[in-house]
Amino acid sequence: MDGEHLQAEIISIGTELLLGEITDTNAAYIAGRLPFLGIDLYWISQVGDNKARIIEILQRAWNRSDIIFITGGLGPTADDVTRESIAEMLGEEMKIDPDLEKTLRERFGRYGFDMPLSNMKQATIIPSAQSIPNPAGTAPGWWVEKDGRTLITMPGPPRELNVVWQETVQPRLEERAESVLVTRTFKTFGYSEGGAGEMVADMLAASNPTLGIYAKPDGIHLRLAVKAESVEEAEEMLAESDRRIREIMAGHIWGVDDDTLEAIVGSLLIKKGLTLAVMEDSHGGNLAPALNDIPESKLFLKGGLLAGTDLSMIAFGVNPDIINNGPGDELACAMAESARNLLGSDIGIGTVGTDEVTRDNPMGTTYIGIADALGSRAVSRPRRRQYVTATILFELRESLLNKSG
Ligand code: ATP
Repeated sequence: MDGEHLQAEIISIGTELLLGEITDTNAAYIAGRLPFLGIDLYWISQVGDNKARIIEILQRAWNRSDIIFITGGLGPTADDVTRESIAEMLGEEMKIDPDLEKTLRERFGRYGFDMPLSNMKQATIIPSAQSIPNPAGTAPGWWVEKDGRTLITMPGPPRELNVVWQETVQPRLEERAESVLVTRTFKTFGYSEGGAGEMVADMLAASNPTLGIYAKPDGIHLRLAVKAESVEEAEEMLAESDRRIREIMAGHIWGVDDDTLEAIVGSLLIKKGLTLAVMEDSHGGNLAPALNDIPESKLFLKGGLLAGTDLSMIAFGVNPDIINNGPGDELACAMAESARNLLGSDIGIGTVGTDEVTRDNPMGTTYIGIADALGSRAVSRPRRRQYVTATILFELRESLLNKSG
C-alpha cells in the first residue's frame, strides 16, 4: 500500500433492509469505526437474500476494494446464502470444519438441544478463510485473505456484530493499521457557525489535525481529527489542539463527543441535590421529554406540564391576568413559578412562544423563565423547537454552574 490508505467497502445483506423493515445500523456501526483504523470507506451497498445478486455485488467489490466488510445472511436457513455466494465468487468449495462443528454442537448442547441439520452450514469454511468466533450466537464469521484482498463477513444481529467486531475484527485490523485517526468533538453554545469559524480560522486551514465545523441543534460542534502513526502520538497532538480550542472558546464549550446537554444538566442537578419541574406551551421546547430520556431523570425531574391551552395554564396555577397579556417574559416567569409550586421542585422552568414575527426574531420568539427560591428571570430567543431546548438547557447549566453547593 506504500503508506496509502486501504480502500474499503461495506455490503449489508438481507431482504428486510430492502423492504425498509430494518435500518442498516450495521453499516453505520462499521463505518464509524474505520477512520480510527486508517481505513478509507468508499462504498456502502445493500442487497437482498438473493445469491445471484449477492455474487454480482461481491464480484464488483472484489475488483475495486482492498477490504470488504459484509454483515448478514450467515444464519442456518435456506435464504441465508452469504457463505455460498462468497465461495462461488471465489471459486472455492465449502467444507465442514470439524472444530467448528464441535463448537457448534457444544453450544446447542449447553442449551439442552440437539443441533438441527440446517445449522451444519454454519460449521463450514473455505480454504482461503479463517473462522471468526462468535461468542454471542451460532454464526461464526469468515476472515478471507486472498490475492491481496481481505473479505470479512460477520453475523447480522447487531449485538453479535458488536461482539465479533470488538473481540476479533478490530484488534486484527489494528495490528496492520498504518495510521490511526483520533477525533474529538467539542460542543459549543452561543456562537454562530461563521463566528466560531473566524475564531479558529488558522486551525481550519491546517491539514493535520483537521478541524470541521458543524451547526447542530445543540450548538456549534467543532470536530478535531488527528492522524498519526500510533494512538499515543495522536493523543499527544490532540491534547495540544484541545488546549488551544479550550483557550479560544472559553466558557462556551459545554461538552465533548457523546455528551448531551440534557445529561450534563441532569448530572449537575443530581450533584447539587436540586430538583426541576417544567411547564411548556405548544410553542415551547421539548425539554421535559428530553430530560425524561435520561436514565437518572427520576432523581431530579419532578415532572413536566404541557400547557397547550389557557385553560390548562390556569389549571396549573398560572394567574389568568398574566395569561391574558399574552406570551412574554412575565408569562414565562409565571409558568416557571407555577411549575415549581405545583410540583414542589427547587427550580421551575416555563417556556412559552409566539409566532408573531418581529425584525429581531423573524421566526417568532420563545420566552424562557427560570424560577428558584430567590425569584425568577426570563430570556427570549428565536423560536425553533430544537434550538429552544438547547437554549434552556444551556441557560440552566450556566445558572447551575454559578450556584454554590
Ligand atoms: P443469525 O443467523 O445469527 O441470526 P445472520 O447473519 O443470518 O444471523 P440475518 O439473518 O441476515 O443475520 O439477520 C438477523 C437479524 O439481524 C435481522 O432480522 C435484523 O434484525 C438484524 N440485522 C441484520 N442485518 C442488519 C443490518 N445491516 N443492520 C441492522 N440490523 C441487521
